[in-house]
Amino acid sequence: MSENKDPHVAQSDAAVKFVYDFTEGNRDLKDLLGGKGANLAEMTNLGLPVPPGFTITTEACKTYLASGEEPVELRDEVSAHLDALEQKMGKKLGQANDPLLVSVRSGAKFSMPGMMDTVLNIGLSDKSVTGLAKQSGDDRFAWDSYRRLIQMFGKTVMDVDGELFEDALEAAKAAKKVTVDTDLEAADLKKLVTKFKKIVKTEAGRDFPQDPREQMDLAIRSVFESWNTDRAKLYRRQERIPGDLGTAVNICSMVFGNLGPDSGTGVAFTRDPASGHQGVYGDYLTNAQGEDVVAGIRNTVALADLEQIDKKSYDQLMQIMETLETHYKDLCDIEFTIERGQLWMLQTRVGKRTAGAAFRIATQLVDQGLIDEAEALQRVNGAQLAQLMFPRFDEDAKVTQLGRGIAASPGAAVGKAVFDSYTAIKWSRSGEKVILIRRETNPDDLDGMIACEGILTSRGGKTSHAAVVARGMGKTCVCGAEDLEVDTKRRRMTVGGTVVEEGDVVSIDGSTGKVYLGEVPVVPSPVVEYFEGRMHAGADDADELVGAVHRIMAYADRVRRLRVRANADNAEDALRARRFGAQGIGLCRTEHMFLGERREMVERLILADADEAREEALKELLPLQKRDFVELFEAMDGLPVTVRLLDPPLHEFLPDITELSVRVALAESRKDSNENDLRLLQAVHRLHEQNPMLGLRGVRLGLVIPGLFTMQVRAIAEAAAERKNAKGDPRAEIMIPLVGTVQELEIVREEAEQVIAEVEATTGVALKLALGTMIELPRAALTADQIAEAAEFFSFGTNDLTQTVWGFSRDDVEASFFTAYLEKGIFGVSPFETIDKDGVGKLVKDAVKAGRATRPDLKLGVCGEHGGDPESVHFFHEVGLDYVSCSPFRIPVARLEAGRAASESAGSDHR
Ligand code: ADP
Ligand code: MG
Ligand code: MG
Repeated sequence: MSENKDPHVAQSDAAVKFVYDFTEGNRDLKDLLGGKGANLAEMTNLGLPVPPGFTITTEACKTYLASGEEPVELRDEVSAHLDALEQKMGKKLGQANDPLLVSVRSGAKFSMPGMMDTVLNIGLSDKSVTGLAKQSGDDRFAWDSYRRLIQMFGKTVMDVDGELFEDALEAAKAAKKVTVDTDLEAADLKKLVTKFKKIVKTEAGRDFPQDPREQMDLAIRSVFESWNTDRAKLYRRQERIPGDLGTAVNICSMVFGNLGPDSGTGVAFTRDPASGHQGVYGDYLTNAQGEDVVAGIRNTVALADLEQIDKKSYDQLMQIMETLETHYKDLCDIEFTIERGQLWMLQTRVGKRTAGAAFRIATQLVDQGLIDEAEALQRVNGAQLAQLMFPRFDEDAKVTQLGRGIAASPGAAVGKAVFDSYTAIKWSRSGEKVILIRRETNPDDLDGMIACEGILTSRGGKTSHAAVVARGMGKTCVCGAEDLEVDTKRRRMTVGGTVVEEGDVVSIDGSTGKVYLGEVPVVPSPVVEYFEGRMHAGADDADELVGAVHRIMAYADRVRRLRVRANADNAEDALRARRFGAQGIGLCRTEHMFLGERREMVERLILADADEAREEALKELLPLQKRDFVELFEAMDGLPVTVRLLDPPLHEFLPDITELSVRVALAESRKDSNENDLRLLQAVHRLHEQNPMLGLRGVRLGLVIPGLFTMQVRAIAEAAAERKNAKGDPRAEIMIPLVGTVQELEIVREEAEQVIAEVEATTGVALKLALGTMIELPRAALTADQIAEAAEFFSFGTNDLTQTVWGFSRDDVEASFFTAYLEKGIFGVSPFETIDKDGVGKLVKDAVKAGRATRPDLKLGVCGEHGGDPESVHFFHEVGLDYVSCSPFRIPVARLEAGRAASESAGSDHR
């Protein structure tokens, strides 16, 4: 053994086990046996009727992928397990007079597209097909099974173009003048088998293997290899599934649902995946095999009808479903087959469900005593809650559905159909609501996408331009609705016989992907009504869903450590945020307070060439600013309010450069130039920047425009003093944006402290105003230890931090090349949606540590959009922030995810 290079043998003396009988595994072995294999084993051990079989481990697959060969021990282990299987079944694989047949099924830890399709009926050959016919007493069945094997095996294992088989099948039907497969008789199928074998020989350059063991071995190898198909690789990259997990292979003895009217196959759910209610949900198809149920080749019947068809199997199935639910403590979905009155279980797993059902099921299971509250919290997530918060189309309304695409960005949007960006902008300016309909969108459509209520495309998937940009903008989008024929030239789309002309009203549902003709009434989400306090969880009119959300939110609030604040700039938003559970304001932007009628004062401030003129303008702004803050502090009485001093470049407050140039030029030609316009134009030119995002903004403004920041600080301090005098409890925090070095902060800090002291002196009110900074530049993060000397708090501005760390200008990159990046799998999700943990996140993590090292009581939060993103919230919990701040609407999502993060790290089990 000493010379043995095989890593498996070298590592340990105990022989590695590559094959597990279904009786040997269990559901916790998903890493080793894959999801399908682990659950088949679990069902077997529960004593449920699973056709016997065995699973080849992911370890065997890994060895194959690493070395290009099956591990040496595999062959013998498979032989041993096959022997045992043959003994149990009393027949041998492919045995001529009575063949044992098996299916070879792929099954990785996570189910993913691109993996090999299951091959059924392995073991059939020219010899054993007659044996099968005799044993079953059904010639047709035997030859149909054999032709299915050659077809599936040829396509998936031998890489023969599947259409060749399809065409041959069609030709056979045409020759016989029949339309469905079932009208082909044994003799026809026999001829078809000959034809199929010829196709294999010509295309694959070898005969269809007659040796059953060779069939099995080749199929196993194909499953291994399918781990690395392009589709599987892309999917893994996008979903961030490690590329080295490998897949397991399940060998399962065949049972036949296609043996006549007392046979069939079906799918079932232990609960309704839409409502969560317990009941009998599923479909059944008599005389059918494998995927026939979902392939839609014949009409299925409701599972409940099985009771009439085969009462014994039905009762048994109901009992098994209950067993599974109690055992898995969750909604399970199931694949089963009935062979001549005998029920067989072929697959189960924890089933997918709608967002509403997830909440309902979680609380139902708590009430049934199956799970506790901590587990209930893990059964739902923020994305589901967010989905429940969008307004939705009235389910009771009469609708005409036009088609269905991919639900790319949620919401319910109604508007007039327009087919180009220009019309979208023009119509929306005149107050019309429009839906922009395109075959696909591209960067030229950006303005139209901004102007419309929703976007509908007939091409492209979840990572198409339309989908990515719409999600970034929070705009409703349905993409890839392929039934729609979009004709942009003639400004219309056709669906079946219906023509939708420009101006016709359409409704699109970004949560379901459905497209409707006409205006579908929109109803508010009951979950939002509840958060708004307009519906009470216990009230008679509250539905079950609201009750479930209420209970789960209460639990999340009890266990979470992260506090949740809101990004809000005015009292109205602040009040709503408070109703939604905000524990303060994490970001109050002040730039909105300089717009509207105040813009003119800002213009004067910018144009001032003498100190007096500037001071004059600032003096006028001061009382207005103060009033804003008084209102805000009142709305958030008793809770912290972080006010960010002016951040954007000044030219954003000046007129548009082109418009102004035209105005000035026209005036000059009329010889009545306006002095102010001329000076304004000069200023606009002076302040024009190539890269405003990286120009004169943030703290830089405060340092070069004398009096600007101090005016804002004075307004905050005076407002706080006024609130205190009114017996209020204002808790203002002053935040300096875009700091890159501690020196910047020190200067602003000194000036601010002086102003605060002055206000304290004149008002006689003692103020405790915290002063801190945003961390939104890499240099700030890298020098966090120094910056913490002058900052009482950090708020990570992860939007700008993402832009500056990646060197992305968000508006430019999202619309231009993010689609390509997502398609190539460079990232699975935009770093503006979910924080890039390895890059941006690392800076945050290090800055947290460095900041706290300098100042142990440093308060830490985040105010980028990531503060409301589920996955990012978990990250912020892990790195130890004190709070996240997000838009008022996302607050419940952040609360829920903060609770989930806390209960997860407290060691609750599962997923
Ligand atoms: P997927 O992962 O696509 O669900 P499966 O391995 O479950 O693939 O198999 C595809 C279809 O074939 C399913 O309908 C399944 O129930 C059926 N099937 C798989 N193995 C057998 C078997 N041994 N006997 C009868 N039907 C089978
Ligand atoms: Mg299946
Ligand atoms: Mg910023």
